[in-house]
Amino acid sequence: MSIEITKETNVLIQSANKIYSDNFDGKTWFGRCIFLSWYCDVGTCKFCYRSTQKSRIKHSSHAKRSVSSIIVEVLLSKRLGWRIEFLTGGYKIFPFDQLVRITKIVSSVYGEKIWLNLGALEEKDLIAFKPYVKGIVASIETVNKELHDDICPNKPIEPYEKMFELCDSCDSLKDADFRKSMTMVVGLGEKKEQFEELKEFISKFDIERITFYALKPVSGTPYEHGPTTEEYCWWIAKTRIAFPKLQIIAGTTARRVDEIKQVLLAGANAITKFPATKQYATENAKILEKNVLLAGREFTSTLTNQKLLVDWDWRKEIDELTCDEIDSDLKKEVKEKMELYLKRMI
Ligand code: SF4
Repeated sequence: MSIEITKETNVLIQSANKIYSDNFDGKTWFGRCIFLSWYCDVGTCKFCYRSTQKSRIKHSSHAKRSVSSIIVEVLLSKRLGWRIEFLTGGYKIFPFDQLVRITKIVSSVYGEKIWLNLGALEEKDLIAFKPYVKGIVASIETVNKELHDDICPNKPIEPYEKMFELCDSCDSLKDADFRKSMTMVVGLGEKKEQFEELKEFISKFDIERITFYALKPVSGTPYEHGPTTEEYCWWIAKTRIAFPKLQIIAGTTARRVDEIKQVLLAGANAITKFPATKQYATENAKILEKNVLLAGREFTSTLTNQKLLVDWDWRKEIDELTCDEIDSDLKKEVKEKMELYLKRMI
């Protein structure tokens, strides 16, 4: 892909890089997003792969991930220095108590509270997740209301705003001190002048983390192109300059790894969305890691080190899992799944 950047945007990127360096330690990580399902009950966001799948998947239960494969991904994340970007997976797939159970398992196996991205949650839901969750994510996609209504007609912004307000105003949630995060997709048709709306949204809700994605054009949707590197970096750099301490995560794909250096220089802290288990130790994974170094960063995760997996006594680690939701049958399933993952990665 072409990663040409105009002089004007380069100046912006240089300022953003300076601000990043003044505020962070240069450590860059990979954030693994953990999906619970391939089905989404909304399924009408115009840019989204799931909008092309909904009619094909007759039973949402068939699109559920197994708990064992979720546990395998968490164990891999720990071993390879990946942070859990968030637990997500569309709406209304699992019964609520199952969602809480899986969140508990993921948090226990990973060893810390996690970020959750499960739609606009209500007070009673947030209370149930409190012991396992450190922050909640609003998948806003775009903050411009008009564009949002057109692109995500059945996923309004207001319930997310209400969820954020609840976190601050509700007595039963104050002690949780939920942190707030949002997502934005670049390439949906947003205009540069709408950056002010993003700025307002981040300030109003005291957002401390944002994940940007470069639109991935999916056949069957109206979108044929993702943003250029220049367009993607412009949004990241503007956000870094406006919010020096905000945590900025940038999504990439196997096709966009060449631009990672620019994305990091524009002020992103970390990289996400790379298909890490499928692309482990591939040429794309190597290019990604090389770009992190070219940006002058230290990569605290790995997407290429196979020895770490070869030397890993993962059976012992699975045997030693202590979460009371993981019984011996589930451990057996996790071991079987782990073998399949490792076959692909080593
Ligand atoms: S809610 Fe999320 S997963 Fe569902 S269609 Fe919209 S963007 Fe896709």
